[in-house]
Amino acid sequence: MAGAGDDGPRIVFLGAPGSGKGTQAALLAEHLGVPAISTGEMLRDAVAQGSLLGERVREVMARGELVADDLMAEVVEERLARGDARRGFLLDGYPRTAKQAETLAAILERSSKRLDHVISIEVPEEKLIERALLRQRADDTGEVIRARLRVYREKTAPLIDHYRKQRLLRTVDGERSVSEVQSEIFRILE
Ligand code: ADP
Repeated sequence: MAGAGDDGPRIVFLGAPGSGKGTQAALLAEHLGVPAISTGEMLRDAVAQGSLLGERVREVMARGELVADDLMAEVVEERLARGDARRGFLLDGYPRTAKQAETLAAILERSSKRLDHVISIEVPEEKLIERALLRQRADDTGEVIRARLRVYREKTAPLIDHYRKQRLLRTVDGERSVSEVQSEIFRILE
């Protein structure tokens, strides 16, 4: 499962908003001893701190749209260059577009690394809306939820096929309890 030497794995999590990918990424990262890197969390922190980055992304995020690929490329490149990510990582929320998948591939290629797995957590859309309404984060109005799901369907879901063709895709049924989904992911990676 690991790459060269004693490196930990490099894993991407795909999944619609409300699929549980953030929860599963955090659980798996702890198990593997690699950082779980959530771009959504990084951006929310930037907004909360009122940093320059936060100022630039606040409105786009509030609408449920995607931050520009170029800006995300800077954020991710900088984060992956930090020491804790050199020996493996779990990406939660990146890539989200075909362009971002290209950027990630280029970043990895420059350091002669590659992805080990792409885990797609699949949940039907009706179920996602139900979950999102229950979760009710500050920005989770019905309209924003639907915008995020649409963006996922149009821009991110095509990455499933992209990674399937590269034979990196592992799909997981996300319509079960957190611990059942977790067990399946651990089993797939064994
Ligand atoms: P979700 O709750 O939809 O799973 P995240 O917590 O991953 O969302 O991200 C929250 C928001 O941050 C997104 O709706 C988007 O505006 C922005 N964002 C996060 N990651 C990216 C990315 N890779 N590209 C563009 N925008 C992003």
